[in-house]
Amino acid sequence: MTDPTAPSTAERAPASAALLARARAVTPGGVNSPVRAFRSVGGTPRFMASGRGPTLTDVDGREYVDLVGSWGPMILGHAHPEVIAAVHDAAARGTSFGTPSENEVLLAEEIVERVAPVERVRLVSSGTEATMSAIRLARGFTGRPLVVKFAGHYHGHVDSLLVAAGSGVATLALPDSAGVPAEMAAETVVLPYNDVAALEAVFAARGEQVACVITEAAAGNMGVVPPDPGFTEALRRVTAEHGALLVSDEVMTGFRCSRAGWWGHEDLDVAPDLLTFGKVMGGGFPAAAFGGRADVMALLAPDGPVYQAGTLSGNPVATAAGLTTLRLCDDAVYSRLDEVSSTIREAASEALTKAGVPHRVQTASSMFSVFFRDGTVRDYDDARAQDTEAFARFFHAMLDAGVYLPPSAYECWFVSAAHDDAAVERVLAALPGAAAAAAG
Ligand SMILES: *Cc1c(COP(=O)(O)O)cnc(C)c1O
Repeated sequence: MTDPTAPSTAERAPASAALLARARAVTPGGVNSPVRAFRSVGGTPRFMASGRGPTLTDVDGREYVDLVGSWGPMILGHAHPEVIAAVHDAAARGTSFGTPSENEVLLAEEIVERVAPVERVRLVSSGTEATMSAIRLARGFTGRPLVVKFAGHYHGHVDSLLVAAGSGVATLALPDSAGVPAEMAAETVVLPYNDVAALEAVFAARGEQVACVITEAAAGNMGVVPPDPGFTEALRRVTAEHGALLVSDEVMTGFRCSRAGWWGHEDLDVAPDLLTFGKVMGGGFPAAAFGGRADVMALLAPDGPVYQAGTLSGNPVATAAGLTTLRLCDDAVYSRLDEVSSTIREAASEALTKAGVPHRVQTASSMFSVFFRDGTVRDYDDARAQDTEAFARFFHAMLDAGVYLPPSAYECWFVSAAHDDAAVERVLAALPGAAAAAAG
């Protein structure tokens, strides 16, 4: 691991370093979400002061082309004028009512219209709440206890889903989280991703106890690992055969991989029973959702016995931002994402090849990531067999050249429709030097 106190990076970012010192005195690790702390790459996390279009500016006044996009939400870039106008307008009319309001209906209609398997949808405030509520509903509907998940898939920090999770858990090399009771973890069955035989074996042995299988629609939290052809179909077939529900977690892929998310992307002929959303649908505000079959959703309070609630659910400012974002996500936005994504990933691969750095670029629509290893990555074991030191050198060289990558080898790179040719050029210009740094 790179020395996190290395003076060179603190010297480059004195205002960030000063804020980090103050933050550490009042907040564990100085951050409000672990992967922001730069632990796996070392150095001083940059405190950002503003964002505009494809760029972020830190408190030292340095500008970066942003390839994190707040980990997915900023599909239109930062401070999109129409989103900001909608937010101003909504906020001026009151920031929270604790009653139903029109924007919630409009946002729900937009989701139902885009994603056919979603007949009913409920709004919440985070992806974590969405997956937590979806598995409670699946257990309530089936009357069964077990949840099947895949190693390396991250579904938020829900107790029973924080087992062999990707994202920050992978970044920090935590096997699992402390504070999750063994009894709760025992209700979660973890399988290798893309392994139909393992799935069939679990269902043959314990199928009558399984409430649901939850899967990232295309995995993005261990780096990008799409489902093998036929894998999602196998999930649908096996769950249906055993009366279990299929929950597709589209918090990352939803409204990013296409208008309708991963579900609408490939010629995938699979309707999940429940889907979860977040990130893009909040337009940079806390808004998320879960939805699906009307007969399953009918079990939710107040119609049914499965309780779920939220003081800020359907918040008028968050729904205004989300609705405006989704309405702006037209075909031109998705084709720009594809174009920017393929230009950057091809250039990254070319630079790393030239520098002799073993790597593998994987994609799921415009989502992509670079694994610092050779060979196809199909599951979490493959993803973990990376040269994270090479990634750390690559990351810092990109950062020094003004490109902000996810500070972890286990994360997806996110582009936005605001990444214009000038922003893409800056990324391409930084790549050869970073590839050389990665080579060591
Ligand atoms: C980000 C993410 C979550 C958690 O969402 P939060 O809003 O961070 O709680 C859940 N599932 C997936 C697939 C995600 O990428």
